[in-house]
Amino acid sequence: MNTELIPHGLQAKSQSWWALYDVYLQTPIWAEKRRRVFERARGLCEGCGVRRPTCIHHLHYPAGVLPGSKEWIRAEKLFDLVALCDCCHADLHPGKDHLEIRSFAG
Ligand SMILES: [Zn+2]
Ligand SMILES: [Zn+2]
Repeated sequence: MNTELIPHGLQAKSQSWWALYDVYLQTPIWAEKRRRVFERARGLCEGCGVRRPTCIHHLHYPAGVLPGSKEWIRAEKLFDLVALCDCCHADLHPGKDHLEIRSFAG
């Protein structure tokens, strides 16, 4: 099993990867992680420290495992997730396509 981490956005993701990722974002497991990251942020964006966070950004994705798999869930740590406001999140995705932004907004 390869749980090596890759920098955010470097690896081109397949349609099926995004499909699984979108399904994962609907699960209670993700909802709980998301809740904990927002709780850690205490109502302030972890990018600017000023605005209210609205979304969770991955610093890294677990590599070599499918989104939502047991291996993914184990490898996806809260320190790789940050709560950001829309402005800070947009700064991190210059020129990224709509699909990726939409997926992160979940
Ligand atoms: Zn911000
Ligand atoms: Zn992001």
